[in-house]
Amino acid sequence: MAGSPRVGVLALQGDVREHAALLADLGADAVRVRRPEELARVDGLVIPGGESSVIDKLSRTFGMQDPIRTAIADGMPVLGTCAGLIMLADQITDAIDGQETFGGIDAVVRRNAFGRQVESFEAELIVPAFDGAPVRAAFIRGPVVESVGPAASVLASLDDGRVVAVEQGHLIGLSFHPEITGETRFHRRFLDRVASRS
Ligand code: GLN
Repeated sequence: MAGSPRVGVLALQGDVREHAALLADLGADAVRVRRPEELARVDGLVIPGGESSVIDKLSRTFGMQDPIRTAIADGMPVLGTCAGLIMLADQITDAIDGQETFGGIDAVVRRNAFGRQVESFEAELIVPAFDGAPVRAAFIRGPVVESVGPAASVLASLDDGRVVAVEQGHLIGLSFHPEITGETRFHRRFLDRVASRS
């Protein structure tokens, strides 16, 4: 579609299809991105949920770590959900040995923060940046944002105060999966960032 923003979903591992479908529903030209030349052709990137240590390893195998770090440093809008948030964090805890991130968000993120018994749950989140209904958020072995540095800001917290959504300029990171509960406002926010940049 002419004039649609062209955005990529990092397609190394994880729930790529759900994000691509949601972005297409919102009118974006959504393509899968696995290689540097594919990254070079998009104006924004979604990093899906999945397993961050695998996404990290594959990104290095596919020669994507440096290009993504450079794109982030150059201001490319990125939305990371769950493992995608881990990949956007400047610092992580409970990582596997040698695990790296792309970085970009000034925050410390703990992997698998909700423990084993509660592998999956849904919660309603008040997101002050959004009008209307609370966000219905699905947490699937999600991370938590343990501390937020001065460059980043909190978008949403659980009732107990734990931070589960952060933003830093063109970067948005979520502990949960909006793409599986029909929540579109984070993707719209990401697409707004893409539109105002391109
Ligand atoms: N536990 C996963 C990780 O460490 C994240 C889970 C998810 O993305 N649903 O990457």
